[in-house]
Amino acid sequence: MENLEERIGKLEVESRKLDPPKENRQSLLNEVNKYAESFLHRTQTGKGFTAEDQSGSLEKFPVSEEGTDITDLLEGFEMAVEKPGINPASGGHLGYIPGGGLYPAALGDYLAAITNRYAGVYFANPGAVRMENMLCDWMREMINFPNGSAGTLCSGGSIANLVGITAARDAGMISGSAVEKAVVYSTSQTHHSLHKALRIAGLGEVIHREIAVDKQYKMQINELESTVKKDRTKGLNPFLVVSSAGTTDTGVVDPLNAISSISKTYNLWHHVDAAYGGFFILVDQLQELFLGIEHSDSVTIDPHKGLFLPYGTGAVIVRDSKALLKSHHYLANYMRDTQTIDQLHSPADISPELSRHFRGLRMWLPLKLFGLKIFRKALEEKHLLALYFHHKVQELGFETGPSPELSVVIYRYSKNLPDEESNAFNQKLIEMCHSDGRVFLSSTVIENKVWLRFAVLSFRTHRDTVDVALEMLKELLNRLK
Ligand SMILES: *Cc1c(COP(=O)(O)O)cnc(C)c1O
Repeated sequence: MENLEERIGKLEVESRKLDPPKENRQSLLNEVNKYAESFLHRTQTGKGFTAEDQSGSLEKFPVSEEGTDITDLLEGFEMAVEKPGINPASGGHLGYIPGGGLYPAALGDYLAAITNRYAGVYFANPGAVRMENMLCDWMREMINFPNGSAGTLCSGGSIANLVGITAARDAGMISGSAVEKAVVYSTSQTHHSLHKALRIAGLGEVIHREIAVDKQYKMQINELESTVKKDRTKGLNPFLVVSSAGTTDTGVVDPLNAISSISKTYNLWHHVDAAYGGFFILVDQLQELFLGIEHSDSVTIDPHKGLFLPYGTGAVIVRDSKALLKSHHYLANYMRDTQTIDQLHSPADISPELSRHFRGLRMWLPLKLFGLKIFRKALEEKHLLALYFHHKVQELGFETGPSPELSVVIYRYSKNLPDEESNAFNQKLIEMCHSDGRVFLSSTVIENKVWLRFAVLSFRTHRDTVDVALEMLKELLNRLK
């Protein structure tokens, strides 16, 4: 029989392998860096979308008792993960809402993981929490919210919306029998994550009114006001309106100022979903669109969209920090050492998470390294590229939606065709775009019409990529005609 000490000694020899020495670390890092560089090189010229799916090759890499060489793993990763589907790191990602992936953000993630600072509570790491709070405070100022508002970095817009909706619920005391009489207002253009958030927050049974949109697909404010009035006289409890600052389908901003003022009059919580569009407020010429956001109650904004960060970085800012605390604050016995301060919110007190990714570093590093000015210019460039595309795609014979307010254009080929036929034509065209894949475009259905969408928000999209998109559309259109 081994004694205890001998057994521990043997286990230690094995478990120390989890902490490789410097030379091994360097060689791992070299391999990963070599891969990253060749990926970035491929991405400059590579496709925006690859329909061929080789992800099944991952089956060759099940979790196994023995370790595998890094070069084999990177090869497997390239084949199964890098190749198929959309390349969101490519400037050719021009569908949905394009992603980002700034290089210094990856370095921030690297350091966050190496140092593994705990960003959930101030006591555990004052610096990490302070950094995240500073970033939230910067976004608070950006949208002109008053001092004392609170914000938190979360995984994305969906969770940000959930946090905002939950705060609205608790501020309005919508629980129990109050749920059935509570009314929420949004439009057909509201992002579907709102519906998910309502259900998760236990508000699936509220009355949900879809307010009509105008020709630009913006919420009709007269309609909002008259519907709220009617609901009140019926003895219902209008409590929440959700507007969009950058809709997913067409990238327009609802009339925030008017919605804020109606919200004041009728005591509604105004939540602005600015997940996609929020950072365009940094562009001087576009600031006016956001007028009134400062009078709203909560705002969702996604740094992994408008700040070009990698996926997994959303944010929500809430005017009434007490409402946020009411929803999320919890004092557990085993957390008693952490309750040290109250002037600085810990993310754990105002969000659903406890142990969490230190997201702040991937946001702080690029912002500080590059400086804000470059982000303003890049966002302005994306807006102008959308205007350029809107103009050029008409020359190809496409019908277009409204001139882009931010960076989304909808367009369809409709020459002399009845709706049904033109829907089929545009459907065929988008399928051809996907098999081609030089750039990735997407489509949507608005009022029963199939539209193609062009959305530019990747920091790697410049005029040359837009010209590739136009060239591709021209070729495919001619082939289909
Ligand atoms: C992207 C988006 C969301 C969802 O955000 P995720 O980060 O994908 O969870 C919500 N609302 C709008 C308007 C969006 O553009």
